[in-house]
Amino acid sequence: MKLKLLSLLMVVGATQVSAQVTDAMITNAGNDTTSVLSWGMGTQGQRYSTLTNINTSNVSKLVPAWTMSFGGEKQRGQESQPLVYKGKMFVTASYSRIFAIDVKTGEKIWKYEHRLPEGIMPCCDVVNRGAALYGNLVIFGTLDAQLVALDQDTGKVVWREKIDDYAAGYSQTAAPLIAEGLLLTGVSGGEFGVVGRVEARDPKTGKMVWSRPVVEGHMGYKDGKENGITGTTNATWPGETWKTGGAATWLGGTYDAKTGLAYFGTGNPGPWNSHVRKGDNLYSASTVAIDVKTGKIAWHYQTTPNDAWDFDGVNEFVTYDQDGKRMGAKADRNGFFYVIDATNGKLQNAFPFVKGNTWAKSIDLATGRPVFDPANRPGDPSGPGGDGTKGTEVFAAPGFLGGKNQMPMAYSPKSKMFYVPTNEWGMDIHNEPISYKKGGAFLGAGFTIKPLFDDHIGSLRAYDPKTGKMAWEVKNNAPLWGGVLTTAGDLVFWGTPEGYLKAADAKTGKVLWQFQTGSGVVAPPITWNDGADQYVSVVSGWGGAVPLWGGDVAKKVNFLEQGGSVWTFKLSH
Ligand code: CA
Repeated sequence: MKLKLLSLLMVVGATQVSAQVTDAMITNAGNDTTSVLSWGMGTQGQRYSTLTNINTSNVSKLVPAWTMSFGGEKQRGQESQPLVYKGKMFVTASYSRIFAIDVKTGEKIWKYEHRLPEGIMPCCDVVNRGAALYGNLVIFGTLDAQLVALDQDTGKVVWREKIDDYAAGYSQTAAPLIAEGLLLTGVSGGEFGVVGRVEARDPKTGKMVWSRPVVEGHMGYKDGKENGITGTTNATWPGETWKTGGAATWLGGTYDAKTGLAYFGTGNPGPWNSHVRKGDNLYSASTVAIDVKTGKIAWHYQTTPNDAWDFDGVNEFVTYDQDGKRMGAKADRNGFFYVIDATNGKLQNAFPFVKGNTWAKSIDLATGRPVFDPANRPGDPSGPGGDGTKGTEVFAAPGFLGGKNQMPMAYSPKSKMFYVPTNEWGMDIHNEPISYKKGGAFLGAGFTIKPLFDDHIGSLRAYDPKTGKMAWEVKNNAPLWGGVLTTAGDLVFWGTPEGYLKAADAKTGKVLWQFQTGSGVVAPPITWNDGADQYVSVVSGWGGAVPLWGGDVAKKVNFLEQGGSVWTFKLSH
């Protein structure tokens, strides 16, 4: 008994001495409201806080506590979710920068600006979506496809590892994920014929533990040894097409300690022209569930087989409990919302969450496959209606920027609702012949994004995942590109490209508060508390894919100004 007590004291002593972020803390993040330790506010990605200090009755009294500018001439898209730990906020910014900020005053403690080479090839603005915390390190990915780990206190680089060759189109924009003592990352570069994969490293050293490609035919590795080929070579890709198959895992992943699985979405197959790769093209445009211990794919669910519309299936897979079962939900870029058994990948429900879907009529719940509308697949350049250089043009919706894109949704276990940032748009699209060239755009398509409705493109929507019914929506003129936060105070927070951070009643959608941040918000808000004071933070800075790729929509919103700052709010007393 004495011995037991002594060892318990020693453990307590050890945790007090070291202010290190541990696996237990990350797993338990949902119960620690004083920190924000991971992207998604918990590895399940629910973006839900149990805090109620700020609620529907007092949110109108929310005022700025501080703001901090990212400075410089690098005011581009800011898609970053801040982290909060031990009095510091860690926030990444455009052009592979990261800042540590005093969370009480907003004063800068240190910054790190990654030295980027000339030839980086980010497809969709020079964004970064956030960092990971582990031990005394803060770790983030860079646009030249590296991982950098810095000391939380000093900002000094502790280790740096190259993920891949930026000259071949690889880059890194997602927040890394910590699961079971490993640092899990994906890759960006789906428009350049890269090979998507998930990698696990020792977060303390950056040393590779396992690597799992998500395109069939490629070999996985674990501890330096072969760990089995992904899928069956040439089962769903003809000829050599799998070698440049895309499926970039560019939005990172989520992890559920109950299932032991990490869930990564995979992007479009390469090239966009679907006629040169007839077949399902596994595991592109899918969710893959990877056993973190073995580095092998436990199950997959493909949302868009033989994708022809750039429907990257990267969207976050958010796990939650429904009727005693562990489910996962995904609002896919293809415009359908999927409810999937998180333990085995079996489809439970699927429904459209945007109104204009034309590429598929529905999702067959028995087979799990979309019921395609063949008339809305862009035609083969050498097929009927094609002249060898250009195939038949079609109008398809959603447009390739998706019913939902990189902006993460939130789930409230209290209301049992998903709060989904959506966009209604379509596109004219046609296919062209294309061949792979290292570092060249690997598309074989021409396209123009167009709005569907006069009064809105964006809309924040509340969905019941069981019934597929929309409880409410708040329309927005410009496309929504930030993420969502929900709280036990019955609030939903989200930002708009017009610059507002908004809060609405989670039950009714009634907007109760808004604040103009000075530039467009394309990042997800967070919340935490210090004693009785609850804080809300969000990054502001318009940019991302819409101004670069948005066609007619980009013209419609070209009045929006760029920026780069982080705002923190609290209740006025
Ligand atoms: Ca893509």
